[in-house]
Amino acid sequence: MEQYWSGNAVNQNKGMVENLQRSGIIQSRKVAEVMETIDRGLFVPNGTPPYVDSPMVIGYNATISAPHMHATCLQLLEENLQPGMHALDVGSGTGYLTACFAMMVGPQGRAVGVEHIPELVSSSIENIQKSAAASLLKDGSLSVHSGDGRQGWPEFAPYDAIHVGAAAKEIPQPLIDQLKPGGRMVIPVGVLFQDLQVVDKNSDGSVSIRTETSVRYVPLTSKEAQLQG
Ligand code: SAH
Repeated sequence: MEQYWSGNAVNQNKGMVENLQRSGIIQSRKVAEVMETIDRGLFVPNGTPPYVDSPMVIGYNATISAPHMHATCLQLLEENLQPGMHALDVGSGTGYLTACFAMMVGPQGRAVGVEHIPELVSSSIENIQKSAAASLLKDGSLSVHSGDGRQGWPEFAPYDAIHVGAAAKEIPQPLIDQLKPGGRMVIPVGVLFQDLQVVDKNSDGSVSIRTETSVRYVPLTSKEAQLQG
């Protein structure tokens, strides 16, 4: 009872997930489970309300995406995040979604984050170490790297799932190249007005692209341009 009334992090995170289920954004048990398991509260800066459905500032002109955007991307990628699969998270920021991917692909899979702000890479690793994905980081099936995510991360390619957490002017070719046939990429594309595009690679290597929804993300750009604002 005490636990129920105290409004602790576990209950608040669960409440956030329940709201996303009620609104129909989370549709599957698997996505609900992973968002219950990875406590969003461990990934936002101190003093930031973690369970409010809004993006939050994380420094370096970056934001952690809103819970409903994380949920939308997990739903879109669910089939490509089966145990043993490879997932790439470009612009991994706080590491929240990389940790979710790692839980879904499991110890036999690979979840790779690429982030170009080294300080965010370090803090994301600290966040993940406090989370339910800590053992996957230790085992090496989850890793976060410092680099320009527009180049992807060839070391663990091809990927079944690629998520891009920042808006590209156009889809970077290396990301298409690193997508496995049968793989899916979710990427915001555009400058001021952006579309969340779903890119499916067909078995013959061609791609089919559709727009899921309109979004507003920070730009996928160079480190210098981002820090200048
Ligand atoms: N999905 C993450 C962060 C989203 S903000 C989260 O929810 O926590 C977008 C992130 O993309 C920022 O952290 C920003 O630093 C990063 N980014 C922007 N351009 C990049 C690039 N070219 N390579 C790697 N990371 C990039």
